[in-house]
Amino acid sequence: MNVHEYQGKEILRKYGVTTPRGIACFSVDEAVAAAAELGGSVWVVKAQIHAGGRGKGGGVKVATSPEQLREYADAILGMQLVTPQTGPEGKKVNRLYIEEGADIADELYIGALVDRETQKVVLMCSSEGGMDIEEVAEATPEKILKIYVDPTEGLNRDEAKDVCSKIGIPAVAVDEGADFLEGLYQAFVGSDASLAEINPLVVTGDNRVIALDAKFNIDSNALYRQPEIVAFRDLTEEDANEIEASKWGLSYISLDGNIGCLVNGAGLAMATMDIIQLYGGEPANFLDVGGGANKEQVTEAFKIMLANPKVEGILVNIFGGIMQCDVIAQGIVAAAQEVGLSVPLVVRLEGTNVEKGRAILDESDVKLQTATTMADAAEKIAAAVKA
Ligand code: GDP
Ligand code: MN
Repeated sequence: MNVHEYQGKEILRKYGVTTPRGIACFSVDEAVAAAAELGGSVWVVKAQIHAGGRGKGGGVKVATSPEQLREYADAILGMQLVTPQTGPEGKKVNRLYIEEGADIADELYIGALVDRETQKVVLMCSSEGGMDIEEVAEATPEKILKIYVDPTEGLNRDEAKDVCSKIGIPAVAVDEGADFLEGLYQAFVGSDASLAEINPLVVTGDNRVIALDAKFNIDSNALYRQPEIVAFRDLTEEDANEIEASKWGLSYISLDGNIGCLVNGAGLAMATMDIIQLYGGEPANFLDVGGGANKEQVTEAFKIMLANPKVEGILVNIFGGIMQCDVIAQGIVAAAQEVGLSVPLVVRLEGTNVEKGRAILDESDVKLQTATTMADAAEKIAAAVKA
């Protein structure tokens, strides 16, 4: 699960990491009032969307007067912000974060993630802050220093101080830098994050070390014990179809292609997407109806797929183990009656109650092609959407 920058900073503050003061806002008037409340004469207006690279896209502006702040807030709020991470369609800005301006002397980078090889949290630290870290990793990998944290011993303070000075934190601020790393590590572990990235971390003119940006990805498997983070969820940032699917207990992920896939079991779903590609097609989604889906869930699954205007054909690939083929067939018929089946449909059923399932489909007036093997199914649906 993703959270906004301002929410990430709330997590950081809870673990003692210094951030600028700021206020999240939903309107221009709120933004102007927030600046007055923060005081000072320099504020940063920051678009809050679940994507980085906002600065490059015009979503981060430094204002030096209340009039200018109003102008920027008005321009950014509601804009369709396009960044290197949003795709060409961009993301609509529904929230702003108004922050006190920082006196930046140096921009650095710190990221925390789990290193699968060593099974440890690794802190990646670099002097090259404010830039695209993937580019740094590619062009100058020696500029990224790594600290592997032993989970039983915690962050080694000497190592942290050493890395801080190597990435350019001045000697007077190295202790504060080590505190920062310790706080970030605790925030990462404490919030069950899978990624925490501070880009940039800045050293100010008076040698303070603060987090100017914050990106957190939280491990969804841990949300049951993170109620404060669940409360951060912003549904407007998520795919509407994925939200609808999760309400029905369906595992659904939107993709860019035009062939809707309804499958049971994640492994079979992956294999189905592979074989569609092998036959020149492009899946529009991953959809696993699970082991024991009922007729209503199958009907909803169809509705969700058909609501996607990009879908030009649907492939149903079911191996009935616990799942019964006749239940799937009933769902297909019900969905066709309820929403109308406007696109070609290829169905492959195998396993429990397959004969019953086929009979239900045969007796219905739903237009479809049946397939025997997976290859047959993939070939037929790929041909149908091309036609
Ligand atoms: P991102 O582009 O989505 O990663 O957004 P950031 O929060 O990293 O902001 C982008 C850039 O805006 C930073 O790298 C800074 O250079 C600049 N910036 C952000 N906050 C401030 C601030 O308080 N003062 C100044 N002068 N620049 C800032
Ligand atoms: Mn950033």
